[in-house]
Amino acid sequence: MHRSTDRALRYSPTSFLVADVRFMINWMASAGLAGLVSALSLIAAPAVAHESAGSGPAVAVASTCLNDPSWVAPQRPFRVFGNTWHVGPTGLGVFLITSPAGHVLIDGGIPGQASLIAENIRTLGFQLGDIKWIVNSHAHCDHAGGLTELLKLTGARLVASAADAPLLARGGQEDPQYNNRFPFPPVRVDRAVGDGDQLRSGDLVMTAHATPGHTKGNTTWTWRSCEGQRCLNLVFVGSLSAPDFKLVGNVRHPTVVQDFRKGFAKVAGLPCDIALAPHPGMVDFWERVAKRDAGEPDALIDPTLCRAYAADAREDFEAKLAKQRAEASASARTPRK
Ligand SMILES: [Zn+2]
Repeated sequence: MHRSTDRALRYSPTSFLVADVRFMINWMASAGLAGLVSALSLIAAPAVAHESAGSGPAVAVASTCLNDPSWVAPQRPFRVFGNTWHVGPTGLGVFLITSPAGHVLIDGGIPGQASLIAENIRTLGFQLGDIKWIVNSHAHCDHAGGLTELLKLTGARLVASAADAPLLARGGQEDPQYNNRFPFPPVRVDRAVGDGDQLRSGDLVMTAHATPGHTKGNTTWTWRSCEGQRCLNLVFVGSLSAPDFKLVGNVRHPTVVQDFRKGFAKVAGLPCDIALAPHPGMVDFWERVAKRDAGEPDALIDPTLCRAYAADAREDFEAKLAKQRAEASASARTPRK
């Protein structure tokens, strides 16, 4: 299957079914995950009124965030490389980067799953109270939904792009693409960053790279992790996908096309030894982990991967854009009756 198509299909947040959530609630109830059950019951309870971004009246709806069971699937935490650890559920990239001066956590998962992430961190032997910063990649419910809970559990401060801070504060409401479809608990940014800004915790230096498009403030984060004398460039790539996005005539995000193109160029140009992502499939993460577990120690290392991901995403985006432009000009040519 073509990689970008595969990614778009697997991670397009458009296929939500209440039935899926009910299935998960039953499954979790049987697994004894009572806290998640109550949180997800709230999510699943009301009827869902979907609407297209930018069209029709704003309707407050319940969060429809959980559209993929893997986003709450328990996952054994493990070391990615050096001081970088995977602590998320199977279907979401949530990473802990440790430093004696205070750890950094990237992203917070969906609403109601903070306990899963917290438990993974404890399982590794780290203290929640030693997390100094939580960094958000972009203001969508599957990466920002658990931030409020995690900030409370850790006492950390939130770092996110200045451009996404308003969307985080609105809890995902009035998203330029999703409008009010995927709300999450509103959260205030303690430290707003822009392109090239650095976050320091002792020797750990993390750099923010603006990769807008998917959201206005979508951010890619880079840092170096070492094992002995071997140090590698790690990249948490911001999402570059545009599932069902309105790319032509989007009054809420008029620069969406230029923004996406900036993002593709930025990701393609980064020094990138290990690429990590908000959704593991974007960088074939689990396939690589399986190879590593099977005895290929460097299976996660691929300096071409950031470039390949950006190229795939760009191809997918340009095809969507061409189609939407053709449709727009066809409808402009249709005479009015
Ligand atoms: Zn997103």
